Amino acid sequence: MGIIEKLRLDGKTAFVTGGARGIGKSVATAFCEAGADVAIVDIDLDEAEKTAAALAAGTGARTLAVRADVTDPADVDAMMASILARYGKLDVAFCNAGICRNIPAEEMSYEQWRSVVDVNLTGVFLTAQAAGRQMLRQGGGSIINTASMSAHIVNVPQPQCSYNASKAGVIQLTKSLAVEWAARNVRVNCISPGYIGTELTLNSPTLVPLIEQWNAVAPLHRMGKPEELQAICVYLAGDSSAFTTGADFVIDGAFTCI
Ligand code: NAD
Repeated sequence: MGIIEKLRLDGKTAFVTGGARGIGKSVATAFCEAGADVAIVDIDLDEAEKTAAALAAGTGARTLAVRADVTDPADVDAMMASILARYGKLDVAFCNAGICRNIPAEEMSYEQWRSVVDVNLTGVFLTAQAAGRQMLRQGGGSIINTASMSAHIVNVPQPQCSYNASKAGVIQLTKSLAVEWAARNVRVNCISPGYIGTELTLNSPTLVPLIEQWNAVAPLHRMGKPEELQAICVYLAGDSSAFTTGADFVIDGAFTCI
């Protein structure tokens, strides 16, 4: 079998959190195009249903839309129950849902801090834990978490301490789970994207005025596109990455190199 065939995900089932839009939707599209059946998990059920329907129509994949708040353990349990009821197994998890708040540290309330850490770090833990439990029972699987280049650098001028700290936590969580589960064939990796044009960045009133500034210093002089994260996630999801676990892939157009 050639490398392109080996990269395919035929027969695999996946879930993607934050799958209704942005990076999650793009990676869910790639999983479907590569042959997987994909559950689109999001707090926004309407949009998740639209994405799931469009992917089923466009790729022929058996999709499922699931409403879940990744910060709520009961929602995450219900999410896994619906996925197993539909597919009977889980091979790939993309734990990707995240939010960002740009608030100076000295002005941030406890609730504002908690909301970011809850979604970005606890939400990744809860969904990766649920996926891992099932994959350990099955004898294997691949988990991909979304960190950020903000786990590596403190980019200015926007104040994002809760975001930066939560994303740094995702990397160390990824490595910890990878080590705990490696011998049982459950792999855990993460991606650290740079600035990507999605609603998170393009719809944020605090970030939009900064885009020209970022592009001026970015080595490629542009933001990334969600589809530029697809191939790495398909690779990590599939069996050709069997020796890749505990890794963090920085895909930022060299932004963190400057
Ligand atoms: P987005 O805002 O376009 O999409 C995020 C999705 O997550 C939305 O559909 C939203 O409804 C869902 N979501 C939010 N909170 C949720 C919750 N509690 N439970 C379930 N779903 C929830 O964002 P995006 O740009 O696609 O970002 C996806 C991930 O990539 C995030 O973790 C983000 O931090 C990370 N990231 C984004 C960029 C970027 O520049 N866009 C860069 C680095 C990392």
